[in-house]
Formats: sequence, structure tokens, C-alpha cells
Amino acid sequence: MKLAETDARLKVAAQEKIHVELLEDQLEKMRNELSGGSVNEEHIQEMANIVSSAQLDLVNSFSQELDLLRAENMSLKDELKVLKAELSNIKETDQRLQMLEEDRSSMESSLKKLEYKLVASHDDVSKISSLKSEYKTLYEKVEDLQKLLDKATKQADQAILVLQQNQELRKKVDRLEESLGEADAYRLSSEKMQHYNELMQQKMKLLDERLQRSDEEIHSYVQSYQDSMKEFQDTLNTLKQESKKRAEDEPMNDKPREFWSRLLLLIDGWSLEKKISVDEAKLFREMIRNRDESICSAYMLSKQKNEGEIIATFLKLTSPTTSEKLHVIHIAAEMAPVAKVGGLGDVVSGLGKALQKNGHLVEIILPKYDCMNYELIPDLKALDVPIESYFDGRLFKNKVWVGTVEGLPVYFIEPHHPGKFFWRGQFYGEQDDFKRFSFFSRAALELLLQAGKKPDIIHCHDWQTSFVAPLYWDLYVPKGLNSARICFTCHNFEYQGSAPASELASCGLDVYHLNRPDRMQDNSANDRVNPVKGAIVFSNIVTTVSPSYAQEVQTAEAGRGLHATLNSHSKKFVGILNGIDTDAWNPATDPFLKVQYNWNDIEAKADNKQALRRRLGMSSSNTKLPLIACITRLVPQKGVHLIRHALYRTLELGGQFVLLGSSPVPQIQREFEDIANNFKTHEDARLILKYDEALSHLIYAASDMLIIPSIFEPCGLTQMIAMRYGSIPIARKTGGLNDSVFDVDDDAVPVQYRNGFTFLKADEKAFNNALERALHHYNNYGDDWKQLVQKVMNIDFSWESSASLYEELYQKSVSRARRSANQN
Ligand code: ADP
Repeated sequence: MKLAETDARLKVAAQEKIHVELLEDQLEKMRNELSGGSVNEEHIQEMANIVSSAQLDLVNSFSQELDLLRAENMSLKDELKVLKAELSNIKETDQRLQMLEEDRSSMESSLKKLEYKLVASHDDVSKISSLKSEYKTLYEKVEDLQKLLDKATKQADQAILVLQQNQELRKKVDRLEESLGEADAYRLSSEKMQHYNELMQQKMKLLDERLQRSDEEIHSYVQSYQDSMKEFQDTLNTLKQESKKRAEDEPMNDKPREFWSRLLLLIDGWSLEKKISVDEAKLFREMIRNRDESICSAYMLSKQKNEGEIIATFLKLTSPTTSEKLHVIHIAAEMAPVAKVGGLGDVVSGLGKALQKNGHLVEIILPKYDCMNYELIPDLKALDVPIESYFDGRLFKNKVWVGTVEGLPVYFIEPHHPGKFFWRGQFYGEQDDFKRFSFFSRAALELLLQAGKKPDIIHCHDWQTSFVAPLYWDLYVPKGLNSARICFTCHNFEYQGSAPASELASCGLDVYHLNRPDRMQDNSANDRVNPVKGAIVFSNIVTTVSPSYAQEVQTAEAGRGLHATLNSHSKKFVGILNGIDTDAWNPATDPFLKVQYNWNDIEAKADNKQALRRRLGMSSSNTKLPLIACITRLVPQKGVHLIRHALYRTLELGGQFVLLGSSPVPQIQREFEDIANNFKTHEDARLILKYDEALSHLIYAASDMLIIPSIFEPCGLTQMIAMRYGSIPIARKTGGLNDSVFDVDDDAVPVQYRNGFTFLKADEKAFNNALERALHHYNNYGDDWKQLVQKVMNIDFSWESSASLYEELYQKSVSRARRSANQN
């Protein structure tokens, strides 16, 4: 209302303003007339005075009115603001009211539900009370029954007592009957017995005489033995005296001091030139200090030899003289066939079995995965005592299971950690792999400590158990688990398990002490630790799985950032080609084959080829059609692009192609699934994208050739398995493939070693060349091909020779440690 009022007043003021403006106009007009001289001046002045006084009054009142209005307007605006604020408050209150209304209605509905429940619970209560009375009557019945049972038990006890008394009586009767029978028999035969006694006495007399004679003989033997012992002692004494005299004539200590100095300088020179390791140099220096006879004779013996030969003679001093039996413990994340992802699993069981066959005591420690093949451990049982191990500042219990796998004793560790570390349905690929496996490594060492084991060798494998090396030296040697040398085998330098340095602390390792460039610090990031590097630094023996790969990883291109570390530890680093388990991979006994066969009877191989073709729904009309296979993990390392290319090229060249593989990389898996779909009904190609152990056996047996076009390959087992089954490898010359496949057409290789087709560059052109040559041989030289198949089936890829190389490394390391322990 007030606003309307002021509006009206403003309008009035505006009209008055117009009125004033009109007066001003009039004044102006008059002024103009004046200047034109048309009006009398006095009149004008008079008029002007009248107008200006009226005007002045009007203006004054008008401006007063305006000021008033302005003030009023301002106060109104303020009031408006206040009103607006109140209005918004009212709105909020409205909203709150609405919410409260909603709450009220939801509470009403919950109240209703509760009421229903109350009604239901009333029902339950009445049921419970009826159950209670039922229970009471039942209880009374049970009590009655119990009384009856007690009574029956007492009666049964009495019956048992009577029965026992009866049995005893029966026994007594039986004995009496027996003695009665005996007495009868005795009476009947007493005459015969008398005669028999006489005969016996005669015999005994004869025996006495013989005994006396042999006593005399023994006595004379003893006498002559004593005589010869005396003679031996005399000779020994004379020899001792002679040797003492000789020693006095030419004592070691009397060798000129220059001799020992020269020897020392020789050793230092070799050490500086890195021809012998620091440990070996230390050992030789000790021998020189002790004026050791053997080093002196080694030096005298090698006078005419070149330096290489002299070093070899000296190094023999460090190797054990006798091959003693060792206690070897493998700590690993895989073991075939119970927990296998790739080659590592095969190595742990293959090497373990071969060492066991050679008389060593071999034990394996594995995580107890939920996804293991438990059918293959029928004697698996849990031990009563849990092993407690440290992690993240606390102690956790581990249940320890034992069982045999492939005849080897295996300990399975089941951590009772809330992270359920090995209950993930898969072996690897979890976000907390670093945590899971560092926990396992520590628990494994704890098991050895608490079981009081004194192994000679602890052999850990790949990054998952590489923590064992630093844990052993930093934490477990001080606790008394100190009998072992540590051997670390890296099966693939692609996987190093590096992680933020702080994560190392979980398993109790000292981050500050280990995150250093010469210890565990990752070579490409100083805030990360690299478990594989740690194992290289902290192990006594470091191996990888083929000599060629060992050389490759010492270069910047293939070393995956560890080449410098490997170079500075090269003295203890060696490549040993894996073997294969020739019992598990044996075409003569393989239960997965349609027809078993051996090198002498390779015609049966064709039956397996037909069986596979039928099983996979491929054309089997032309038995001669070459079948080319590939069995692999589909990862970039394996040359995925060349595998894909091989499929198309084989079909172009008139062959058949089978791929068995699966990929942990979703993109690759999808890509191959698409290809597999395209060839689903093709009569000459099939892609089976899964892991299938049984099918892999049949494919090895059925195929004529197996392709392994790897970009890099630490060792590779498929080429060896293929050869054992008479399938000729077509492989890229890299790593272990370079050490096991030698080209049929390579004149630089002795004929007896040629066993496959190889190519160097990882491109389609180079691959085509090898594939085409292989098919040419297959299609045109049938007899030669057969001979080649028989030859490769006879190559010995067993673990025996590889295991003996490991044995030699173990022995050397153990005896070196013992020597230095004795000398200290
Ligand atoms: P890696 O260890 O790099 O995978 P290897 O050649 O050293 O390669 O070992 C591969 C092992 O895994 C062989 O025993 C091979 O037969 C087996 N293998 C690979 N892929 C499959 C598959 N899809 N199904 C069955 N066995 C497979």
C-alpha cells in the first residue's frame, strides 16, 4: 500500500515538474520578446518577478516533497528487503515442513511394519512357549531313556564280565585239552623220541668237533690278520717318518718368500682383470697365507701351460673333491602339474626330480592356492602346528600342509591373513601380488627356521620368491638359519615385480638400508625397489634358463634395465638350458594320445593327426597335408603378429594350422577370438583359445611342425617337447631357441645337430623363408623328413645333463663357503 501511495505522490510531483517547465518556457518566450523590443520593459520586469517568485515557491516545495519522497522510498526499499528475506525464510520453512511430513509418513509406514512384526513375534512367542513345553516333555523322555540306557549299560557290563570269564574258562579248557593231547602224543612217541635223542646226541658230537675245528681256523685267521696289521702299521710308521724327513728336507715354509709373493701377485692380477671372482681370489689368498700345499703344487704343475689353463687348474682347487649329497630346498610360486602357469612350473618339478634321482634331498615350498589341482596331491594333509610369521608389524598364523607331488615332498603354506592371499582363483595378476609373495617368501623362511632345517641350498625362482635372498641374509642368518647358500633363477627378465620402496617394509626388510643403487633400488626410479635386482645382488648363485639368454640380458637392448647389475655380478651369473620332464612328455606312454608311438614306429603319429583333425572338425581327407601347430601363451614376447601371419601363410601354402593358446592381455585375447570365429568352420584351420594340458599333448603328437616365432625367449620348452613328439620346430634364433634349434640348411652347424628351421629377423619375410623351406622339405624329401623326425625324437632333452650343471654350481658354492668358514 505504501508503495502505491508513494507512486501516486511521485506522479503528482512529476505533474508539478511539468508545470514548472511550462512556466520556464513562458519566461523564456518573454525574454525573447523583450530582446525583440516588442514589450514594455517595466511590464516585463514585473512579469518576470511574478513568475520567478511563483516559480521559486513551487521549486522549493517541490524539492522538499522530492526529498521526503526519496527518504520514504529508501525506507520502503529496506522494508522490502526485510520482507523478501522473511519470504525466503517462509519458503525454507515450507520445505522443511514438507520433509518433516515425508519423514512422518515413512515413520508411520515403519511403525506399521513394526506392528506387523510385533503381531508376528507374538505368534512366534506363542509357538516358542508351545515348543518349550514340547521340549520339556521330550527332555523328560530323554532323561527316562538315559536312565534306561544306564541300566542297560550296567547289564551289558555285567554280561561282558561274564563273557570274559567264560572266554578265560574256555581258554583254560582249550589249554587243558591241548596238554591232554600232547601228553597222549608224548606217550605214543616216547619210544621214537628215545631213538631220536640218541641220533641227536651223535649229531651234536659231530657239530662240536666241527666247531672246535672252525674255532682253530678263525684263531689262525685272526692271528694272521693281526700280523698283517702290525706289518701295515710298521710300513705306515716308516712312511710317516720318511715323509716327515722329506718335509724337513724340503718344507713348504722354506719355499723362498719370493715364491709366495709371486703367487700372490698372480692371483691379484687375475682378480683385477676379472679373470677370477672376488671370492675365488679371497680363497686363493687364504691358501697362500696358510702356505697351502695344494696351491703350491697347482702352480708347479702348470708351469708349462698358458694362462687360461693355469687359471682352470687353480679353479679346480675350489671345486669339491667328492660329490656329496646336498639338501636342496626350492621356494617357488609354481610347480607342475599342481600349480603351473608356464615354464617355471615345469622347471621346479623337472629339476627337483632329477636332483632327487641323483640322491640329493630335495624339498619344495609352495603357496597353498585355492585353484591348485588338488586331485594330484591325494596324500595332502595339514600339520597340527601353525607357523607364525611377521607381516606389516604383526604376527600371522600360517597353516602348513604337506603332500607329495611327482614323488617330491612339498610344503604348502596357507596364510591366515585377512587378505586371503592365495584364495583368489588365480595364481598371479592380483593388485597386491607384491604383498602376497613377499609374505609367502618370509613365511617359507620362517617354516625352515622353526622346523630346524639346515639346508645346503635354498633355491628361489623369479621375482615372486626373490625376496628370499635379502630376507635370508638380513633377518634369518642372524636368527640361526645360516647353513645355506642362496641360488636364484630368473626365468624371464621381463617380469621384475618392481614397486614403491615403502612396500618392502611389510615383510620386515629395511627400506632405508635396501633402497640404494647397489642393492635393491630400481635402476630407472630411485623411489622404487626391484626384487629381481635384490636377488641378483644378494644370492650366491644367479642363473637364467639358457646360455644365449644369459648373454642377451647383459646387453642394454635385452636386459630390461638390469644389464648393468648383471654385468657387475657376472662372475656368479650363468645360463643353464632347461630340460623337459621326459616321463611326463613321452609319446610311448602318453595317456592323452590316441595312439602311443616311439621313434622306431612313427607311422602311428599319423593316427594321432587324424584323431586331432576329427576332434577339431577339420578336413582329414588328405592324410599327407602338413599340419602346423603353435602352443603358447599369447603375449607380445611370443611374436603374436607372426603367429597370426603364420596362420594365413600356412593356408596359402596349402597346409593346415592349429593354435592352442590363451592370453592374459584382453585386447590380444579379443583379437584372436575374432580370428577364431572367422575360422570356426574352416576345414584347414582351428584356433582353440584356452589352456588345455591334455589337448596340448595330442597337438604335439599330431603336428608335423611347431612354430615358435618369439621376439625373445629365455629358454622355451615347446620346441623341446615338439621334438620329443617328432614335430619339427620352426623357431626364431633367440635365447634358448638359439641353443636348442639348429637349421637343417645351415652348413656351419655339424649335420648331427641340425634339427629344425630357423630365422633371425622378427619379420614376416624371414618367417616365410623358414616356413617355406620346411614345407619344401616335407613335401619333396619324404624319406629325409622321416629321418629328421626320428633324429629329433632321439635327442636327449632330459633334465639329467642340466641338473648336473646345477649340481656342480651348488657343490662349488657350498664347498667354497665351507672352506672360508674353516679358515675363519
Ligand atoms: P612360457 O613359460 O614363456 O609360457 P615355455 O615354452 O617355457 O613358455 O613353456 C610353455 C609351457 O606351457 C609348455 O609346457 C606348453 O606346452 C604349455 N602351454 C602353453 N600354452 C598352453 C595352452 N594354451 N594349453 C596347454 N599348455 C600350454
